[in-house]
Amino acid sequence: MPTCPQCAQPMAVAQTMSVPGIQDKAVRWRCARDAVEVGGVHPVQLAHLHLGDEAEEDGRRTRIIRLEMEGAELLVFRQAVGADKQTRAGNA
Ligand SMILES: [Zn+2]
Repeated sequence: MPTCPQCAQPMAVAQTMSVPGIQDKAVRWRCARDAVEVGGVHPVQLAHLHLGDEAEEDGRRTRIIRLEMEGAELLVFRQAVGADKQTRAGNA
């Protein structure tokens, strides 16, 4: 289970899928507090992914905040753009 780069808490499973031999394999995790999501991709994607890259996904803008190898997978941590500011304002 990945750890949130922002608050260092274990991240909750947000999405599972079943593949041959594995039922309900976790493929996406989320930290609701920081609006951070992480999903595993093939490591070859590392050539195309960079810290700070922004992407539009489901109508929301996200930014890559961390890349981490986990076994045979590359974990891509994305945070909703603007969420960090909202969090700080909320805690102030
Ligand atoms: Zn967090």
